Parts: sequence; C-alpha cells; structure tokens
Amino acid sequence: MKIIAMIPARYGASRFPGKLMQDLGGKPVIVRTYEAAKATNLFDEVYVVTDSELIFKEIELNGGKAIMSIKEHDCGSDRIAEAVEDMDVDIVVNVQGDEPFTSKEGLEQVLSVFDGADADKIDLASLMTEIHDWKEISDPNCVKVIVDKENFALYFSRSPIPYPRDKNASMQYFKHKGIYAFRKQAILDFYRLPMRSLEAVEKIECIRYLEYGKNIKMAISNTQGIEIDTPEDLIRANKILKEENKVAVNNKYRNFPMVPKVVFGPGCFDQLTSILAPRRKDKAPFIFLVDEVFKNDQELIDRINPRFNDKLLFISSDEEPKTTQVDQIVKDIKAEFTSRPSGIIGIGGGTILDLAKAVSIMLANKGSAADYQGWDLVKNKAVYHVGVPTISGTGAEVSRTTVLTGPVKKLGINSDFTPFDQVILDPDLTIGVPKNQWFYTGMDCFIHCVESLNGTFLNAFSQSYGEKAYDLCMEIFVENDLTEEESRGKLMMASWHGGMSIAYSQVGVAHAMSYGLSYVLGTKHGIGNCIVFNHLEEFYPDDVVLFKKMIKEHGVEMPRGLCKDLEPEQIELMIDIALSLVPLWQNALGDDWEAIMTRDRLRALYRRM
Ligand code: NAD
Ligand code: ZN
Repeated sequence: MKIIAMIPARYGASRFPGKLMQDLGGKPVIVRTYEAAKATNLFDEVYVVTDSELIFKEIELNGGKAIMSIKEHDCGSDRIAEAVEDMDVDIVVNVQGDEPFTSKEGLEQVLSVFDGADADKIDLASLMTEIHDWKEISDPNCVKVIVDKENFALYFSRSPIPYPRDKNASMQYFKHKGIYAFRKQAILDFYRLPMRSLEAVEKIECIRYLEYGKNIKMAISNTQGIEIDTPEDLIRANKILKEENKVAVNNKYRNFPMVPKVVFGPGCFDQLTSILAPRRKDKAPFIFLVDEVFKNDQELIDRINPRFNDKLLFISSDEEPKTTQVDQIVKDIKAEFTSRPSGIIGIGGGTILDLAKAVSIMLANKGSAADYQGWDLVKNKAVYHVGVPTISGTGAEVSRTTVLTGPVKKLGINSDFTPFDQVILDPDLTIGVPKNQWFYTGMDCFIHCVESLNGTFLNAFSQSYGEKAYDLCMEIFVENDLTEEESRGKLMMASWHGGMSIAYSQVGVAHAMSYGLSYVLGTKHGIGNCIVFNHLEEFYPDDVVLFKKMIKEHGVEMPRGLCKDLEPEQIELMIDIALSLVPLWQNALGDDWEAIMTRDRLRALYRRM
C-alpha cells in the first residue's frame, strides 16, 4: 500500500497572512512542518502543495518536494485532489501546514484504522480528541464530532453535540482534529461533488463526505499539537522550541508529576465509591484489579461496591508483574468492553499497584508493554487510575514507575503518565499481612532510604523525604514502642516518603543486585532486597548491622544459599542484568562505578547469597 503525506500550503491566510513563511527557530513554519512529517517515517513520500512560488522555492531549497497547484482552490482538500489525480497512491494523508509539531502518534493512529477488520468499509479516517471543558464544548470554533459504536462519524457540528438535556448525564465529548487519511478515490470524489447545504451552513468541509454517504472512521488521539493561527501562537511555538532544545542540552533537573489526590486514614477506603462516581463515563466500566488474597473477603468486596458493568479481576501476586501479563489483561478488557474503561483501580501490594499502572497506560497506548520499558517512552495519557495499597513499603503507590519483567529486561515503565491520579491510604487494609511479608516489604522502604541517603545523587529534596522515612522505620522496626495501629499508619507514610525520596534520586547496590536475582530466579522484590542487603556491609556498613539486628528482633526467616549451586550461565545472566542498571550504580558508587563494581566482585557477592 502506497501512503503519502500532502501538506496543503496557502500563502495568504485570513487571520495571519504569510504565517507559513514566518520564522520558527531559524526556519519557516512550513519547513518545520515538512521536516516533522518526514521524520515520522510513516510515508513513502511527503509533498507540500502550494499556490505560492515563495513556499515552493523554500521547500525545494531545503531538499523537500513541492507541487504548484494550477487552479484556484477553496480549500486544502481540493488542492490535494488536484495534486494526486495522476499519482499512483492508495492513501493520502493531509498534514496541516500550520502544525509544525505534528506528532507521529496522531498520524500513526489515523493510519492504523486501515489495518482493522472493517478497513474495506472506510473511505477516509480522521482524528478526534476528548474534551471536557464546557467552554470548549460550546465554542463554535471547536468542531465536535459524534460517532457510532464502531467509531464511524455520525455528524460534525459547531454546536455541542449531543445536546445534554440532562446536565448531569455523563457524556464524553470529542473535538475533531483536521487530520485525514483518504483513500485516493474519496478525495477525488470530494473534488467533483458539489457542496450541499449542511456543509455550507456549518462551514465544515468533512460534512460533504457524510452528505454523500461516505464512511469516516474516527480514531482517538489525545496528544496536543500547536496550530499557528495567530502571531501569539508563533511566539508560544518559538518558546516551546527553545525549551525543547534546552531540555535536550540540559536535563539535569527533572520535572516530574506527583500524585494529585490522596486520602489518608483508617477506614477511608469507604470513600472509594464516592471518589469514583464523578469519574464514571457512560457505559464505561471501572476495572478493579484486586490481589487474589482477597478473593473470599466478602466484606472487602462489598466495600468495593462494583456497579453496573464494573469488573473485578482477582490477580495472584505470587509472581512479579510481566509485560506479557499486562498485554493479556489489556487484551481481555478490550475484548469484553467496546468502550475504554472509566478507570483502573489497583487494590493490593506493589505487584497489583504496578499492574494497575501498566494496564492503564497500555489501554491508551498501542503495542506491547515491553515497547515502553524505559524512560519517557509512553506517548498517550493513561486511563484514569487509582492505587489502594494493602501492604506498605514499596512506595509503588507514589512512584513514577511500574516495574515489569519483559522478554529481554526487567525494567520499569518510567513516565509522566505512570503515577496514580488518586491514591487511597487506609492503614486498616494492611491488617492481615503475614509477619514475614510485613518485614520484607517494610525493609524495601528501609533500603530505599539507605540507598537514597548514601547515594551520590542525594539532594535536599530526596534527603528531606528519605530522612523522614528512615526515622519512621526506626520507630517501627527498631524502637518497638508503638501500638499496632500507630505502626500501621506510620509504615504507610514511611512507604510514601521512601518512594518520594527515590523519585528525585535513585536506589543503589541492593536494588541492582536484587533485580538480577528476580530476573533469573523469580525472587520477589522485597525478599530479594533483604537477601542481598544482608551481604552489603562493604557498601552500607552501619545500616547492614542495624538490619541484622532487626531480623533477629522480629524473628524473621532469611533464605540462605540461593546462589551457591547455580550454573555459571545463570550467575553471568544475573550479573548482566544487574550491570545494565547504570543509573543505580552511578548513584551508589559515582561515575567510576565500572572500575569499582567489576564482574568478578559481583560474582563473588552473588555466590555468597
Ligand atoms: P506483593 O504485592 O507482591 O504482595 C506480597 C504478598 O502479600 C502477596 O502474597 C499478597 O497476596 C500479600 N498481601 C498483600 N496485602 C495483603 C493483606 N492486606 N493481607 C494479607 N496478605 C496481603 O508485595 P510488595 O512487596 O508490596 O510488592 C512487590 C512488588 O512491588 C514487586 O513486583 C516490585 O517490583 C514492585 N515494586 C514497585 C515499585 C515501584 O515504584 N513501582 C517499587 C518497589 C517495588
Ligand atoms: Zn524497592
């Protein structure tokens, strides 16, 4: 299938004449747009089609392909139709000339509909974005679209459609984005067919297709582009470009989101239903991922209070979350429900919380979870997601990552879209946690603090959280004069603060080595950290002594001899996995870490465990 991009470029724009030739970071806007379209690698060819010699020359000068339109045209589609009439192409995508930050994701989305089972029925495809603000919904400059259950467009309008007779009814409104992917025939038909009354009165081009019975399939894309419609837009775009360049050169200071809403207190879980209510979208269920340990806990299930078509999925946390597991859950949800869920609610320990984060991301992003393991690879905002921890220590409730074991690596999906939208901290939910497990997961928090406070990445931000969490761990695990209720509340807050502490620094040796154990032997995070930390006197002398004291004090069993009899290949694989976690070593040992942590040294350490 031959796919091309066409960028219609008219010189005189009514609101901002000559805007396409304005300077944007040293190049004209239209050249930026051309380069952005080209950089997506989605097209066999990219053309600018224009009425202006100036634009034509500028594109050619920059090594691009431009076509002069012969006739006068009323709209971009006509200009494109004339240009493609004699070309051998299957799909033509129009890219707006004034959208210099055109993202690959949106274009990919609009093209992807031609891979679907109903592709034969589609004459053209276009994009829509969720809108929530009534001001925008009622703004006539914002074109709204409504669709049928297969996302075929029913109508486009400048009026709010549908009209909400009942103001409280929950309805997702969509705004139309002017990106189209046409089958060649569709765009030629458009050119030949005269305008009819609906198009004329609304002044919306694509209504013509509907008036002639064509099928427009809509894809959802929530990424925000920037259109250059006014001189102010241009100033803003120049600013953004500068920021982007600055970030590329200097990303020393990270700018990351935090959990925006959190409720704390014994029994606060009862507020779950009222917290979710305003987030419920018509017919779109909430999906509750619940640790299997609660499967027969009817009281908890009653408190979850599933409504309508909500779904409870009980999930075992015997194994750490895997990318394949995330993909399967997402597939099952998509197979069962036609609309995207209103939200994903994780109720459990780090395992379930991480699954909930990953599933909410993957419901809004294409491909496999494995494609997004790493830093800042996620493109679309995740589905609304809520975390309800039932065991304390990992900090997964507050962190910006979801740790997954993938086909080739154990690595988190670390992104701005990962943190929960809402967290419910109810210490009473941790009442049933078995003693050993309480200790292992609690020690994850203690180790987060030790690694953060002793790391080279330490700064006042991490330190303030790390010290608080460390002190809370002392009260809970060393001083031992708290009531159980006090201890539960404090450990929940220690977990939170420990998570915040590593958000702005990093973990260290124990975590790097524990990831190796987990990848090869499936050892779970909490216990794996404990096994490793027990042998790290060389790196964290005082805290390892303290740790040993806590083990004794609480009578906790520590597995031994885990690696003694492993095959050499298994040990080497552990070493590979551990060493691949570069930032952890940099934090623990500084820039010279490779000289300090040799394979031999790691091997000896593992063999002792
Ligand atoms: P977990 O979620 O694996 O649960 C441990 C055990 O406790 C399970 O058997 C579970 O059924 C049980 N359990 C949980 N709550 C209970 C309750 N209230 N009553 C009785 N039993 C209960 O343990 P965890 O240590 O919280 O999480 C470990 C996972 O967290 C690992 O997969 C690790 O990779 C991940 N993690 C993530 C982050 C992050 O920032 N995203 C940080 C650290 C760890
Ligand atoms: Zn940890």
